[in-house]
Amino acid sequence: MSGQKLRQDDGLLMYIHDPSKGPVLPKDGQENVLITSALPYVNNVPHLGNIIGSTLSADVFARYSRTKNLPTIYICGTDEYGTATETKALEEGITPLELCTKFHLLHTEIYEWFQLSFDKWGRTSTPEHTKLTQEVYLDLHKNGLLQLETAEQTYCEDDELFLADRFVEGECPQCHYDDARGDQCDKCGLTYSSPTELLKPRCKRNKNHKISVKPSTHACVRLDLLQPKLEEWMQKQRVKAHWGSNAVITDKGEIVEPRMLGEGLRPSAITRDLKWGVQVPKTGNEEEDKALEGKVIYVWFDAPIGYPSITASYTDQWEKWWKNPDNVQLYQFMGKDNVYFHTVLFPSTLIGTGQPWTKLHNISSTQYLNYEDTKFSKSRNIGVFGNNARETGQPPEVWRYYLLSQRPETSDSSFLWSSFIAANNNELLANLGNFVNRVVKFVNAKYESVVPGPEGFEGGEIVPESSPSTPAAQLDADFINHTNTRLSEFRASMDDTRLRNGLATAMSLSARGNQYLQDNTLDNSLLANQPERCAQVLLNAINLIYLLSVTFHPFMPSTSEGILRQLNAPARSLPTKFSIDILPGHKLGKAEYLFKKIENLNGSQEKAWQKQFGGDSVVADKVEPSGPGGHPEGGKVPKVKDIKVDASKKAAHLAKQAEVVKAKKAAAKEAEKNKTPEEKDLESKIEHQGKLVASIKKGLQQGNPEEELQKAKEFKNQLAELRKKLKEASLAN
Ligand SMILES: [Zn+2]
Ligand SMILES: [Zn+2]
Repeated sequence: MSGQKLRQDDGLLMYIHDPSKGPVLPKDGQENVLITSALPYVNNVPHLGNIIGSTLSADVFARYSRTKNLPTIYICGTDEYGTATETKALEEGITPLELCTKFHLLHTEIYEWFQLSFDKWGRTSTPEHTKLTQEVYLDLHKNGLLQLETAEQTYCEDDELFLADRFVEGECPQCHYDDARGDQCDKCGLTYSSPTELLKPRCKRNKNHKISVKPSTHACVRLDLLQPKLEEWMQKQRVKAHWGSNAVITDKGEIVEPRMLGEGLRPSAITRDLKWGVQVPKTGNEEEDKALEGKVIYVWFDAPIGYPSITASYTDQWEKWWKNPDNVQLYQFMGKDNVYFHTVLFPSTLIGTGQPWTKLHNISSTQYLNYEDTKFSKSRNIGVFGNNARETGQPPEVWRYYLLSQRPETSDSSFLWSSFIAANNNELLANLGNFVNRVVKFVNAKYESVVPGPEGFEGGEIVPESSPSTPAAQLDADFINHTNTRLSEFRASMDDTRLRNGLATAMSLSARGNQYLQDNTLDNSLLANQPERCAQVLLNAINLIYLLSVTFHPFMPSTSEGILRQLNAPARSLPTKFSIDILPGHKLGKAEYLFKKIENLNGSQEKAWQKQFGGDSVVADKVEPSGPGGHPEGGKVPKVKDIKVDASKKAAHLAKQAEVVKAKKAAAKEAEKNKTPEEKDLESKIEHQGKLVASIKKGLQQGNPEEELQKAKEFKNQLAELRKKLKEASLAN
């Protein structure tokens, strides 16, 4: 670029990988960083809690690692197998793969908008994934770590399938509540080890279906045999990588797993009676192969294998990353529900294969992000989901900044529109935006954009005077010492994946810049009366801005680009000390605004967004327990104390929910009374059409669903017209 004058140093610039030159591979003798975020389950639209909890956090860490010029890859993709997708596809009348493809694209668009820098964004429904999952299974088999177990399971005769817990409902054997779920009674709180414990179990998809109980055989992985090796690994690793205590590890490094009941880990079933999944491979043992014929690998087991399998679809040299434990550090990001799978199940699996896998180096898990003090809920349409963040008209960098500044690292946090607006106006704009703008504008206007300072100066690190001789030298020494302290703090926080603190530290560097300008009263009179001092202040300020371009890069990549454009400088690497790298004589670009103010007169914008994303009611939704990819298949999530605390909240929630239902029923009854015969007639026609369309789609009745749907729409229009007329008539009366 023309007009550039930078310090000559091989390590100054950030190395930017060109994907057309092949994959990023680890280098011997270097710190190589492999990053994953929990694979999002494909059939949900991710909400902001999911995004901050895993994908965005991992992106920040990947970008940070790249600013240190370390060989880094960030791997993620959609987790696609399991009951939830199979059932949903059945309902929509398409194949599971079609359903997954549709949702995979939706996820892709959302993450692109959020500027996530995956080196590979893949999916689990690939041949690479099948191959690798089956290999892992066969290794476990070969090492005597699988055993077959036969158990009674709930079976739907009409659907011709075994029902997962979440598809069974029935009467609670303890309190006789009629709507108990397959794994738990919402009334008395009793949990069941199997839905066969329910009295009068019924199929959730259709309560008239015939339910029976049938024996089914499954392969279980011998976690009991693997436990000693797992613990040995975990004890070493937690010290080596400074693991904090979390859901499954105490601060003494003991595994806390409620399923153990003081007896240690138990064999865990890793196959399921489903069609949509990785086929259980043949082992050569005829009896076993026959017992498991047509079954698939359980999604909780195959999803984490997605990390290496997606890497295998990135490069055929994937083993350089995944079977290289001495040279590669694996960082995994996820919500707290997923910790068990990444610290117990997945490492046990890898250990059990006997292969030299790269195992977890450090885990970064988050608590929950709530929405305006309630839970995000897709079914109730509460909260901002990944796909509607952009509908606010606010750019991705502002979203990234706000979410990261609220990252729930040590406790739950809340998304609040008021603080979203404040973050943009009072922090980004007033602090960072103002500092950059003031300096660049001043140099644009007073120096024809050329950076002032002593000619021939080669730059580099500045060692401040230990006992400064003048007030100006004192100001500079304070500025440089403070900047260096903050920079070390920044690196320490980021290395520890305390991203929220890292961001706050980056922001404080910018605030220090503003203070430096103020301390030195940068203005026209400084320029006129002390031109050399003015030049010195600007040279420091411009180099602080260059430093900010790299400290903010992980959090707000497009803001970082905006800064570099104004500096007319290439992306730089992260230094350990403040130094003068943009030299006197370098020509800056034009000043531009990094952020735009959000107008919020009397809270009007805040209210508008609350209304737009407030949902149908403010009742919190039940939190679905999730699996490795945050997938909603449920199962026994470790119930540590902090999860159980919610008993009283849950009771309050149920009571509130009951009230809402009661109020809705009363309102519906009242409305029913006042309906005209024409209204009732149209309503029953619409209902009939709806049922017809559903049964055509299920293949129970002949007909064209599109045509019937069109008819339903016409009836709906007629009904709307009619209601409008009735309303006008009643107003006229
Ligand atoms: Zn059924
Ligand atoms: Zn009960």
